[in-house]
Amino acid sequence: MRKPYATRADQWRREHPNALRQWPAKYGTVSQFWGFRVYCGRCKDCGSPVTTRRNVSAHNWGETRIGRWPALCAECREAKRRHYRELDSDRARKRMAERRRWDRYVRDGDRAEHGLPSVRQGVKAEVNDAYVKRFGNK
Ligand SMILES: [Zn+2]
Repeated sequence: MRKPYATRADQWRREHPNALRQWPAKYGTVSQFWGFRVYCGRCKDCGSPVTTRRNVSAHNWGETRIGRWPALCAECREAKRRHYRELDSDRARKRMAERRRWDRYVRDGDRAEHGLPSVRQGVKAEVNDAYVKRFGNK
């Protein structure tokens, strides 16, 4: 946000329109000139160059630390995203299997309460007295 009146910083900027500042970032270097910050760095994982540019001319006042610079190149970022998505679907699959196991456990418990044998797909139920009483001897 620009202050509504001229500041010493504005005067300094007017007198030094092509001022260049540089400082190191975690995986590269940031250069600031003409109201832009240009980040040049290397990918954390594969070492290929990563560059971005941000317009900071609107940040003439107050906080100018406006977020991290990218640590990964586009391919590594995509690979990381894919990896976590796969992990996620793996967890979802395991959660569902656990849920089915639990449902089976509850259902068999209910059947046991009524003296009925547990149900298993593809396995013929044993015939006992409760079964005969309920369904007849078939
Ligand atoms: Zn990379």
